[in-house]
Amino acid sequence: MVQRIKKWFHRPTRLESHPTERARRRNLLPSSSSYFHRLTEEEERKLAKRFEGKLLLRREIPLSDPQFNDLLRHQLFTPHPSFIKTIFQTRCKRCNNDKPSLLASFPCAKCCRTHLYCRNCIMMGRVSECEVLYEWNGIRYQWPTLLNACTWKGVLTPAQEKAANLVKKAIADKSEMLVWAVAGAGKTEILFPGIELALSRGARICIATPRSDVVRELYPRIGQAFKNVEVEALYGKKKNKDGTAQIIIATTHQLLRFNEAFDVMIIDEIDAFPYHKDRSLAFATNRAAKKASAKIYLTATPRGDLKQKIRRKQLPHCFIPIRYHGHPLPEPKLVADFSLSKRLTNKQLPKSFIRWLDQRERKTRQLLIFVPTIQLAEQLKVETAAVLLLKKLIKDESEVAFAHAEDELREEKVRQFRQRNIYCLLTTTILERGVTFPSVDVVVLQANHDVFDEAALVQISGRAGRAKDDPDGEVIFIHDGKTEALVDAVHAIKKMNLRAKTFYTKESER
Ligand SMILES: [Zn+2]
Ligand SMILES: [Zn+2]
Repeated sequence: MVQRIKKWFHRPTRLESHPTERARRRNLLPSSSSYFHRLTEEEERKLAKRFEGKLLLRREIPLSDPQFNDLLRHQLFTPHPSFIKTIFQTRCKRCNNDKPSLLASFPCAKCCRTHLYCRNCIMMGRVSECEVLYEWNGIRYQWPTLLNACTWKGVLTPAQEKAANLVKKAIADKSEMLVWAVAGAGKTEILFPGIELALSRGARICIATPRSDVVRELYPRIGQAFKNVEVEALYGKKKNKDGTAQIIIATTHQLLRFNEAFDVMIIDEIDAFPYHKDRSLAFATNRAAKKASAKIYLTATPRGDLKQKIRRKQLPHCFIPIRYHGHPLPEPKLVADFSLSKRLTNKQLPKSFIRWLDQRERKTRQLLIFVPTIQLAEQLKVETAAVLLLKKLIKDESEVAFAHAEDELREEKVRQFRQRNIYCLLTTTILERGVTFPSVDVVVLQANHDVFDEAALVQISGRAGRAKDDPDGEVIFIHDGKTEALVDAVHAIKKMNLRAKTFYTKESER
């Protein structure tokens, strides 16, 4: 393949044999009168900012053919074959996938041949065997050094400050660390001093996360905290995906287009699906960071592998068991209801839920109801609206909505829920983490379903009691048979609250 590219690369293109080009070569025409003029420093700097630190397909490079071919000829772009083939295996250069089951062939209309493409990274556009990945090879872009870039005026709690100092140190040393902080601890603010330090050194920063909802939640907050810095969000549905800002907030999928671009790589919600299931995302995140870079991982629910690294002292970490407002995490109440499956099959709400509605402490809190499937989220909407109307909790059906991964209007509905225009949102695990609503009660229907693992249930509980003026919130898990995940989640929350108490005692003794 390499051979073939080289041959193709050196063969004179149609444009090279163009009479204007031949004339320019013989110096008959001044270079500015053709496409092929020397780049000014400013032009090259602009190109460097746009293309440096990336691995792109031709169609992802928005330059005209003459312009692009010229840059290629001057070796400002280096082509790489999209598949690395050895006798034993074939590997996708973009996502590192080498599973034969995820490599398929298709009839390519462009070359009238059947060839290989990678199914693993198809959501980023198809990489086929006849295509090439381009890497910028021109000057390095100098990111500006920005002093006192943080415009956030809040104050960190002592627990946050302790963690923030460790993050700063890891960024200064270009080392790796984990921030293990309960939901509602104020993880984002912990990053601010570290990001400020990095910017003062002219570093480029990436905050990556497996969930696009988390990207959308983080983007305005980071933008607000660093008002004079270029901040850009990258996720699947976003139209403009140039990725030219100094601070990039991206889904881990989007990092498949980057290559040694960032001095600081922060991975928020590192344990979230699909990051822990898809090896290519960890690969992409690693490749997107420069060889010498700081790596900061954030999570409220580290999985087994991270916990093991902590135990073996292979990964420095800091632990924050208390929320920023100092109140404990709401402990979930388990409610057994053995008619649950039957009611849900009939698109009805369980009776235990309706009974609980009457006993709620604070009816002004919004309702966040988690269900195991997309189908159920949609099916229960009508019944939920009817029940809430009957109980006079809403005035109109439109105050009930569903939001799930395949819902086109999800973003808008989440926004409406946050603005309290929607009273009750039925959702799947898509909103289990990374989203903050100030005052909600949380219900999980069929909490014993497989999709609700321990981490998901702990995260879901963490949606309640986020605000200082309403730090409690009720969390109800309705089930028809306890699972290990259910019991472990409740146990994990109680343990955190216990650790928070001792943390407080230790702090006040100082
Ligand atoms: Zn691939
Ligand atoms: Zn082809």
